Amino acid sequence: MRVLDIIHKKREGGTHTDEEISFLVGSYAQGITPDYQMSAWLMAVLWRGLSEGETFALTRAMVASGDTLDLTGLHGPFLDKHSTGGVGDKTTLAVVPILASAGVQMPKMSGRGLGHTGGTLDKLESLGGTRVEMTADEIGSQVRAVGACLCAQTDRLVPADRKMYALRDATDTVESLPLIAASIMSKKIAGGCPSILLDVKVGGGAFMKSLDDARTLARLMIGIGSASGRKVAAVVSDMNVPLGYSVGNRVEVREVVRLLQNDPQTETRLKSLVLTLAGAGFLLAGRVGTPAEGEALASAQVASGAAFAKLREIIAYQGGDTEYLTDDRKPPIACVQWEVKASGSGYVRRLDAEAIGLAAMRLGAGRETKEDQINPAAGVILHRTVGQFVTQGSVIATLYTNDEAAAHSVAPLVWNAFAIGPTAPDPQPVIYETIGLDI
Ligand code: URA
Repeated sequence: MRVLDIIHKKREGGTHTDEEISFLVGSYAQGITPDYQMSAWLMAVLWRGLSEGETFALTRAMVASGDTLDLTGLHGPFLDKHSTGGVGDKTTLAVVPILASAGVQMPKMSGRGLGHTGGTLDKLESLGGTRVEMTADEIGSQVRAVGACLCAQTDRLVPADRKMYALRDATDTVESLPLIAASIMSKKIAGGCPSILLDVKVGGGAFMKSLDDARTLARLMIGIGSASGRKVAAVVSDMNVPLGYSVGNRVEVREVVRLLQNDPQTETRLKSLVLTLAGAGFLLAGRVGTPAEGEALASAQVASGAAFAKLREIIAYQGGDTEYLTDDRKPPIACVQWEVKASGSGYVRRLDAEAIGLAAMRLGAGRETKEDQINPAAGVILHRTVGQFVTQGSVIATLYTNDEAAAHSVAPLVWNAFAIGPTAPDPQPVIYETIGLDI
């Protein structure tokens, strides 16, 4: 078999055999096929697409490039969760302890933030000393001890994806639904859990800009999971508006803590999504019989304090300083706090998630390139959200940073992210639909 023939076949719109895909991915992961040939194939896929069968074969080949997390010896039920990423998306930090506090085992591997979207690992590392790099054995020990871990993917899981994703990033071939689906699902399948819950984001601050694309991606990922013997469901949720009132790292952890402490001020969209995801997770893991029972169990785990206690336990086990969970004054704190004020009175009609994500990144909460350093205390607090009334001169957002020049340049971006008008907008759903929960 020759890689050149495989590239040519896709270039001409042909359909690959499983063997061709397995050969290409395997030889690329081993360093035999060079980047320039894989780049050409990825570009051909971007234009010509992959059939469902080819996408399943690609996922299998990617999983086969490395190890699979071995959960034998641990007692389930097990669940994995994945979000396609967004602005202010802190749901993993809430959903994992809610589920684990009621006996669902969650070996959860997460990623870092890039561009305007945040990453769970950066939020964890904002709690002094929290260790996120673990070996497969350490993940197993932690799940046995506390029922969950929140860590980075191990180096040995899906090495093909690491190489291919970096290449896609550098060759503008990220936005292909089959490539995205295979990339995400290969990691979830290698993660070893029999049940997988997906949160597919749609809107201005997400990868998927249209509901149709989000639905197609969700169905494709569910199909890949089913073909590998996994039970998969997806929640399709909104990412036109940031999720919750905070965007950054330590500020987002604090918002999760307040949610888990049953704070009545919790932002309703965030709470609704967290409870829906946790409820769906309980159903997928077989702990309840309906989504409503799952949500009731999730609410009960929050109300009793069990979910917050589990979050503390997970952070402490990973060497984090749990005082950060409840004490805003622990250093480093952001030395610049810059208020953004409304120039007129009216209703917030729009709050642009992508603009707020970019603003948080430029304040130091995120990375423009993988090498950038993060300031754990940087971020944006939103004092108003869509549908709420603001009065002229009131503070609508506070920017946290150590970089006064960044605050100065970012303030207009945040100010412009708010569209304020005389009438209230129609209510916008946070959850568009759930797919695959009719188990
Ligand atoms: N997240 C992934 O893990 N892979 C993609 O291709 C896109 C988002």
